Amino acid sequence: MTDAPAGASGARRLLRRLRDLMATGGTAQERLDRIVTLIAGEMVAEVCSCYIRRAGDVLELFATEGLRREAVHRTRLRVGEGLVGDVAAHARPLALANAQSHPNFAYRPETGEEVYQSLMGVPILRGGKVHGVLVVQNRTQRSYADEEIETLQTVAMVLAELVASGDLVNPIELAPADGIGMLPTRIEGVRLVDGLAMGSAVLHEPRIVIRRVVAEDPAAELERLREALARMQSALDAMLAADDIGRGGEHRDILETYRMFAEDRGWIQRIRETIRGGLTAEAAVQKVQDDTRARMQSITDPYLRERLLDLQDLTNRLLQHLAGDEARATELPPDVILVARTMGPAELLDYDRTRLRGLVLEEGSHTAHVTIVARALDIPVVGGAVDVVARVEPGDLVVVDGENGTVFLRPGEDVQQRFAEGMVARAQQRAAYAAIRGLPAVTRDGVRVGLQLNAGLLIDLPQLDATGAEGVGLYRTEIPFMVRSSFPDIAAQLAIYRTIVELAGGRPVTFRTLDVGGDKRLPYLPPSEDENPALGWRAIRMSLDRPAMLSQQLRAMLMAADGAVLRVMFPMVAEVAELVAARAILERQRERVARAGIAPARIEVGVMMEVPSLAFQLDALLPRIDFLSIGSNDLMQFLFACDRGNPRLAGRYDVLSPPALAFVRHLVAACGRAGVPLAVCGEMAARPIEAMALVGLGVRVLSMPAAAVGPIKTMVRSLELAPLVTYLERHRGSAVHSLRSHLNAFAHDHGVVIE
Ligand code: PEP
Ligand code: MG
Repeated sequence: MTDAPAGASGARRLLRRLRDLMATGGTAQERLDRIVTLIAGEMVAEVCSCYIRRAGDVLELFATEGLRREAVHRTRLRVGEGLVGDVAAHARPLALANAQSHPNFAYRPETGEEVYQSLMGVPILRGGKVHGVLVVQNRTQRSYADEEIETLQTVAMVLAELVASGDLVNPIELAPADGIGMLPTRIEGVRLVDGLAMGSAVLHEPRIVIRRVVAEDPAAELERLREALARMQSALDAMLAADDIGRGGEHRDILETYRMFAEDRGWIQRIRETIRGGLTAEAAVQKVQDDTRARMQSITDPYLRERLLDLQDLTNRLLQHLAGDEARATELPPDVILVARTMGPAELLDYDRTRLRGLVLEEGSHTAHVTIVARALDIPVVGGAVDVVARVEPGDLVVVDGENGTVFLRPGEDVQQRFAEGMVARAQQRAAYAAIRGLPAVTRDGVRVGLQLNAGLLIDLPQLDATGAEGVGLYRTEIPFMVRSSFPDIAAQLAIYRTIVELAGGRPVTFRTLDVGGDKRLPYLPPSEDENPALGWRAIRMSLDRPAMLSQQLRAMLMAADGAVLRVMFPMVAEVAELVAARAILERQRERVARAGIAPARIEVGVMMEVPSLAFQLDALLPRIDFLSIGSNDLMQFLFACDRGNPRLAGRYDVLSPPALAFVRHLVAACGRAGVPLAVCGEMAARPIEAMALVGLGVRVLSMPAAAVGPIKTMVRSLELAPLVTYLERHRGSAVHSLRSHLNAFAHDHGVVIE
């Protein structure tokens, strides 16, 4: 037996021969025939076959050395069928010493492959999509080495370019059935940020076409890589150095994370090794990315997935730098609908905000950082838009309907017309909200309701002026912690809190101490092993177990509020003893900063009502606090023992059901007796009909995202409270599932504006 190609030099020799072969004349099919023969010889395999993906998710045998010739263009497998289909379906290599015993083996008599025992197959990938499968087979039970898989993967990259050339298969066939400049398409996704937008599609990752795969001179390619890395580094440094207050400290933290990755020796080393194996710099970067993507498919850990996505973002930046002027971003259209598989928050902030209208993501979730940033920027976002990147062409007209979670690609006249009207209506509504910005939220019968903002990013703060909100009712301190690559020290925390206080311009800010743990992960803390994260080691439980962490946070808040009022609120308090312990830590920190001459004018301490047990200790609780804030998101899921993230239970229990309203009523009465102000800062406060019920029950402070202030103020100003109080009183003790329809009817009959 001759030697199989070993390591980089074997792969390089094979690639060189491939390059020479590609340069010879003949049709693409003839070249493919010669390629499979060459690979079989070089890899010491009896069989080498190339399957290419055709329309309808079929893999067709296009060329073979070793199987029966008459099977070419006749043997077809569906994606997912047989071992070849398995490689395509999972976009990952397969190496089996005894292929026929594998449960997925699909025997095709016309090929004569029954005599071959071992099989190694790799996907032919381009831009993350599978275009075919390359297979070698051996008669004996051969165990293929990792280097051999690597070599075959590298060869598959060359084949990917041949397929993409369009000479083998019409490129139209390679696109999904509804793709590329064809019919209008509607994609149902997930609503992540409400709003409506229309504009031209801009692919966040422009399709970089790699024209050269095989390196003429690996040393020159290594040098090109070095230069591109240096350019990328200095671009990142320049972005870091840019003093851009509007973007806030978070932007900087994310860039720091990227810079950390950009210096990752392991990553760069893998690219270098791939170049030494015979690929050009961009092909090597692409290959490392494809490998990463393939690996990612099986990873479910959200933290690791996020880190790998960060790495992928960086890879794209590097590809841009390697492509140089060729891929230099063309001028952005005036109305940009950004389309991406996924993206980081820093990348979103890189775009010219004056042109950004909407965002469509294949992945994405409500709590993803990019969603948080988009919400702060007021850009509608639809996530979970399956295959949108493949189905859209740059420049296509796109409508993003964030209200319904729908994306329209190349919409027809009727849809355009409907959305144009929808946008005019929204603009009018916004203008109406802006017009009442300076007016108080007072009911028609003169009861004032305090409207405040929920915030987490610095860019949320200008919304105080824009909406006329009276202050920040909930500042989620975990958000700046979540977008960092390491735990912020006290100086970093102080800088954030000080900026918040400054930007609030004298309006009150309620700082909530860290609510992490459970599903809110910090990238630098070990992942939670809680079986029920929402009920797990989170929020104040973690803070009390890590008193140094809580002390630092409280000290930073005390220092930021030097000379002013500090409002601090503890999340997820389940019993008064927890508050007592937290207050003791606060007191120690107060004494400590006082020794350095720092003192807030006043300290107001509150807790969040999120755990029902606390409601049975109000007599002990209320004298110890200055305010209580209902975190209805958590409270309702604990009250009903109902996971709010479980779609099977969505709508099962309503926050407007008699027990939920009775709970709020009980709190209103107790707080009223004790003279403790009561607020609601969960989602309930942001929805007009729910907010109406809360006000009717006696809640006088509501805290919500900026976009909700206009609709809630409009509701309050159109409400006559007295009849609502009577109405709610009358339905007290009702046995219905929910009072929602009753309240809707009330609003309708009494002219309460619910938008
Ligand atoms: C809540 O639970 O209602 C709340 C405001 O806190 P968070 O949504 O941050 O858990
Ligand atoms: Mg909560």
